[in-house]
Amino acid sequence: MIFISAGHHNADPGAVANGLQENNLTKDVRNLIVQNLDPQNTIQDKDFETNTQYQRRIKPGSGSVVFDIHFNAGSGTASGTECYVNSADAKNKGSLSYKMADEISKTAAKILGIPNRGIKADNQSQHSRIGILNLGSGISVLWEVAFITSTNDIQQFNQKKAVLTKEVASILKKYDALK
Ligand SMILES: [Zn+2]
Repeated sequence: MIFISAGHHNADPGAVANGLQENNLTKDVRNLIVQNLDPQNTIQDKDFETNTQYQRRIKPGSGSVVFDIHFNAGSGTASGTECYVNSADAKNKGSLSYKMADEISKTAAKILGIPNRGIKADNQSQHSRIGILNLGSGISVLWEVAFITSTNDIQQFNQKKAVLTKEVASILKKYDALK
């Protein structure tokens, strides 16, 4: 089973820059990816749900893939794509979470032509622990697609999002089949 969620929700815009809201971009990415997934094997968040409500509703077992979508924010020159995994998965480069994160970062960097900022442990983020990465699923990855604060990142994303989301959907399906 693939559990996919658009970071933030209707009442929480997330990062805001250049007239864009993170929650609208994450919904767009999630919806495009879901179009390429098998609906029988996919569970997604509802846009009115808070992260806590969604996490309480889903019960991802060890055979599941959990995938949460965000956009990064920084100075105008910050650019690139990156993934977060939980600290145990970050220490184990052989873990499927680490491998899937690595594949997503590399694929996104290549398609968008932006830097690959690599894989980070959730305790390296501004939060000490990211809840959705610690629900007990077999594979859990949080993807920061690009910087909402970078006009080039957003331009590349807008031009290439169809092919990008198709490739990411293939990666999710491949890893789900491994669990
Ligand atoms: Zn976010």
